[in-house]
Amino acid sequence: MSARSSNGVGVKPIRRKGTGTITRAVRTGIATDTAYGSVVPPIYLSANYAFAAPGIPGRYDYSRTANPTRDQLADAIAGLEHGTGAVITASGMAAVMLATKLLSRGDLLLAPHDCYGGCHRLFLAESERVGFDVEFVDQRLPETVQLARERRPRIIWIETPSNPLLRVTDIDAWARLAREIGAVSVVDNTFLSPANQLPLELGADLVVHSTTKLLNGHSDVVGGAVVARDPALLETLGWWSNCLGVAGAPFDAYLTLRGIRTLEARTRIHEANAIRVVETLCGHSVVERVHHPSLPGHPGHEIAMKQQSGWGSLVSVDLEGGRQAVDAFVSGLRYFTLAESLGGVESLITHPATMTHASMDEAAQRAAGIGEGLLRLSIGIEDVEDLVTDLEQALKRTEEFIYQRL
Ligand code: PLP
Repeated sequence: MSARSSNGVGVKPIRRKGTGTITRAVRTGIATDTAYGSVVPPIYLSANYAFAAPGIPGRYDYSRTANPTRDQLADAIAGLEHGTGAVITASGMAAVMLATKLLSRGDLLLAPHDCYGGCHRLFLAESERVGFDVEFVDQRLPETVQLARERRPRIIWIETPSNPLLRVTDIDAWARLAREIGAVSVVDNTFLSPANQLPLELGADLVVHSTTKLLNGHSDVVGGAVVARDPALLETLGWWSNCLGVAGAPFDAYLTLRGIRTLEARTRIHEANAIRVVETLCGHSVVERVHHPSLPGHPGHEIAMKQQSGWGSLVSVDLEGGRQAVDAFVSGLRYFTLAESLGGVESLITHPATMTHASMDEAAQRAAGIGEGLLRLSIGIEDVEDLVTDLEQALKRTEEFIYQRL
């Protein structure tokens, strides 16, 4: 958590609230093997399990329905998120889709206008097919609260901090409103993970994860999870997971569980490195704006201080000079790989307009504030001095490029 505030930007580490669940997550399944006493739990790849007699299954019968390795991961994530249980899915989008199964024809889904592009695409496609309505709104505006009161959505979808602009939504306020109007509040907690934000404790009904990101943390699994507080909701989601066949594979669950054991340790390094990156970018002549809730001038700073226990690993930046400046900046970066995804130990850089949010049309991108000059950086756990040096040379290159053009 120690981070320097070397250039006067004023970035400070956020306070950390103990969650009391880290030890449980680290130790999930450790030393529970009754066959050989293996310290790390074995992986159960079997698709099926023997019945004692016709109609008399054991604890498990078929792996689409339930699997011991997947159950261990579900326990770990549910524990970290302070939920009743979790449904583990084959991708983050499968988890998002499961939550949309709570919607029927004529229902309203209230979603943020700057949610992950894949969620935006799924919500639109499913609303047309199923016949529910979807409204993409700026959840920071008072008129959105008014709209929710008038139209009484079935689901209020929250993504905070949002992808890619790191806007912060007040989970407690929206969860309270959801309860008042009988809506289900769903928080996509992918960008922070339970190490830094606990939406269920703030009153949300469901938490959705792309475990592909921080929870696994090593960019070698695609997976997802939905965590519920209410057992009845959990059962409905589990029923749909089995019915649709979207459950995550045991091997992926095993790897994700391994990743989770280091979540807390990784989180601290991600955050300290991200703060140094923010300091490096802020105030540079080619940087139009740095988007990071740690900055006192960020519109969501105060809410983030209230509901987050860390700043996370993502930083977004608008460069002067649009697309050409982006190309100059990105080319030759040594330690930031140009790729989709985030939350892995390695640093990545993404151009949302042409990559993660390409499925949104121009108008939707504009409404969400995604411009040609926007870059999203996922800060890894490399030596921060290497990351800073790399970014400084990219900033210099971009400055030279802009200067030559003038
Ligand atoms: N939610 C958020 C916030 C994301 O960033 C992503 C993917 O980038 C998803 C959901 C979908 O996850 P997946 O790619 O694992 O399907």
